[in-house]
Amino acid sequence: MTTPPIDWHARAAALSVPVRPFIDGRFVDSAADAHFESINPATNGAVCTLSVGADDDVDRAVAAARRAFEDGRWAKSTPLQRKAVLLRIAELIEANADDLALMDSLEMGKAISAARAEIAFASGFFRYYGEATDKLYGAVAPSDSITLSLGLLEPRGVVGAIVPWNFPLINAALKAAPALAAGNSVVLKPSEIASTSALRLAEIASEADLPGGVFNVVPGLGPTVGQAIGRHGDIDFISFTGSTATGRLFMTYAGQSNGKPLLLECGGKSPQLVCADMADDLDAVAARVAHDAFWNQGQWCAAKTRLIVEDSFHDRLVDAVIAAAARLVPGDPLDPATNFGTIATRGQLEKIRNFVAHARTEGATVAFNGGPWGETSTAPTILTDVRADMTVACEEVFGPVLSVMRFRDFGEALAIANDTRYGLAASIWTRDARRSHEAARALRAGRVTVRASAAAGEHSGFALSAEPWGASGFGVEGGMEGLRSYCRFKSVEFVS
Ligand code: NAD
Repeated sequence: MTTPPIDWHARAAALSVPVRPFIDGRFVDSAADAHFESINPATNGAVCTLSVGADDDVDRAVAAARRAFEDGRWAKSTPLQRKAVLLRIAELIEANADDLALMDSLEMGKAISAARAEIAFASGFFRYYGEATDKLYGAVAPSDSITLSLGLLEPRGVVGAIVPWNFPLINAALKAAPALAAGNSVVLKPSEIASTSALRLAEIASEADLPGGVFNVVPGLGPTVGQAIGRHGDIDFISFTGSTATGRLFMTYAGQSNGKPLLLECGGKSPQLVCADMADDLDAVAARVAHDAFWNQGQWCAAKTRLIVEDSFHDRLVDAVIAAAARLVPGDPLDPATNFGTIATRGQLEKIRNFVAHARTEGATVAFNGGPWGETSTAPTILTDVRADMTVACEEVFGPVLSVMRFRDFGEALAIANDTRYGLAASIWTRDARRSHEAARALRAGRVTVRASAAAGEHSGFALSAEPWGASGFGVEGGMEGLRSYCRFKSVEFVS
């Protein structure tokens, strides 16, 4: 028997979304009396109204997290107890997949087909880190005949997690799952653009028997709730994902409060290098190039927005990437046939349009504009004749704009790729083993893919760990090394 297709519009009309802070195991009222609306960018209508949040909300959440941490209700549970809860959270995410996907689609314009497919990443992080709880251990250091030296991994304490809107549920899961697996308590702030799936995630965690106070979610604005978390003197560690400018604010907040350590995952301007020896695979490479530039409407941190292509292959590749981009289906995010949703906000849309207009004044050519650009949407845009010093080649657009540059000599290709203040990801497409090895070592990026796309988990499951360079941040996220980011390393010596 086949399941009937979901009428997403009807489901959206019936959907009830959480809007209040989730603190100490339940939804509570915010202390603030000012509110804002979460806007559906596809319709410009309000999805829900949330409180801007207040210092008092953060104080209550941190106090609950601290109590939960100190009394050991989670931090002192056994690895197998933590595993059971995290795996149950994964199951419940999957059981609630349709509504969670709908929340993300309604709030930030993601195509429902993509949002639904992304649920597997969110539950996957809870499965991966749930399974990791009893595989996390420290070290035995070199010891002499009377000494035994151990390195212990302990939870850091209360973790403040701040996340952006581009993958609302996945970003929340990528912070919460390893932090909880390591035994920490968490106070998470979702983006004001897409808050509801993270609030529902906290409720789901409670339904999975995570003890109250261990995972708290406080929605609100950056300068209110975000800043209060950043400056809080009783938070032990900050894990931030968002723009470089905001990440730097968190460095200031930490410096001006208790000097808490930080993990920062910030913006990017990632390159993909394509050599002429890939000509036999023209269509496959072009499809991956287009995917990596335009996935999630180009709104992903590791979007490969600088295509650096060997001169002799330039025209053929550009034509094939245009053909691949033209196959994307923009439209109503709730139509399952749409695979290119809307841009998350009007402000972001305006910013993207300004980047393209400015690039034209600097001499770039609009080789493809998959328009028409409507009131609420933009479309994949491919710019040729781009020079490395143009604004569009240097700044993160965070939209579906691919800048194409040429190289003649491989050294020049690597130099263009590394000519950026960012360093999140990079890819190289060549069949030449020498060039592959040289690029893998020379590219300054946390994650280098060789003849592969860079979507998380696609090739290596959840095991990949990476640390960004430069303006893209610092600290390891993902995989087992990412789990250690949420641990404190303590050495203990026993002398007989
Ligand atoms: P943003 O920096 O505007 O916001 C991120 C978070 O910080 C949000 O929760 C926001 O409310 C909060 N915030 C904003 N201003 C604040 C302030 N003054 N004080 C405290 N908190 C504040 O970023 P965004 O627009 O939500 O997301 C897009 C950015 O995120 C892009 O630069 C993208 O590259 C980056 N990103 C990075 C990764 C990664 O893994 N490196 C992943 C996804 C997104």
